Amino acid sequence: MFIQEEYLEQARKIHRECPVVDAHFDLAAEVCERRLAGEQGVVEQRYLPRFEEAGLNIVVSSIFINNRDLPELGLRKALGQITALKEDVESVNNRIRVTGSRAELEENLAAGRISILLSLEGLDPLGNDLSLLRTFYDLGVRGAGLTWSRRNAFATGCCTAGQFQEIPGGLTELGKEAIRKMEGLGMWLDVSHLSNDGFRDVCEAAEQPFIASHSDAWAVHENYRNLTDAQIREIAGRGGVIGLNACGYLTGIMPETTTPAEQEADAALLRLCEHAEHLARIAGPAHIGYGFDLCKGLEETTPRIQFETENYDVLAHHGEMVKLTAALLQRGMDEEAAKGIAGGNFLRYYRSILR
Ligand SMILES: [Zn+2]
Repeated sequence: MFIQEEYLEQARKIHRECPVVDAHFDLAAEVCERRLAGEQGVVEQRYLPRFEEAGLNIVVSSIFINNRDLPELGLRKALGQITALKEDVESVNNRIRVTGSRAELEENLAAGRISILLSLEGLDPLGNDLSLLRTFYDLGVRGAGLTWSRRNAFATGCCTAGQFQEIPGGLTELGKEAIRKMEGLGMWLDVSHLSNDGFRDVCEAAEQPFIASHSDAWAVHENYRNLTDAQIREIAGRGGVIGLNACGYLTGIMPETTTPAEQEADAALLRLCEHAEHLARIAGPAHIGYGFDLCKGLEETTPRIQFETENYDVLAHHGEMVKLTAALLQRGMDEEAAKGIAGGNFLRYYRSILR
């Protein structure tokens, strides 16, 4: 997609001056794997320059557990990931920090420091023991989805990984109790990966606004990870935010290779714009953000989990966020809407949740 310089300039200014957020990134799992292999300064070397290039203010790191590690290793892996990520950024604490409170978040914003917020991609590490939710809260976890694309003690995921086939079944009683507990603690609820039945149950059980941190629009591409128009309206109507996912499987454009020809890359970016525009049309632009779910790094470290990650990143790295914002502007999105989507909307939401 040919992006004119004036829109790139406008987008760069937005990313420089306004809040920028990626609401879903599998960072902790990758950092943990790489550190176990002996690498240090993973975030500093591999990600920080791109984060800063994008003007990123907040990145939400998921804590993601592979199928093969469940159930026995779920808790251990989750704890390992949190510790690894905290240790990894310690030496660059003046530039990026794991953050758990509203005051810290504001401090980081004022100082131009990036905040990492932690979110559990599924409550599997808790097993059947909901009391451990508090343990994770005390470790700094501020958001959670009830389940990843699988069934656990709390809920049923949207589909079988790699098959994208709807699984019937909603929330268990424990799942409903988990929502009450999360709302009481000051954690956000994330419905990406939840089944349609589960979504319906969440609408009954949740009293506070919830998010879908990394999901696209079913109307643009039919995939069980994506949201129907009714679901989009429901999230927005309650004050939640939807994060645009840049994974090829979800957008519906899957180039043959991971380094696609320019034409293929353009088609993928255009499709991503179509998802953003549809979500914004249905939800209103104040309820859309970015939650790119860039998977390449995690896949490199654990090649066997192909299909457990969502695979093929439309954006090669975070530096390319600017290109997407520019593309949206060039296609007619107004500047206020683009600012909100780049990060203002998720920032507003996190401010309402964090204590
Ligand atoms: Zn995911």
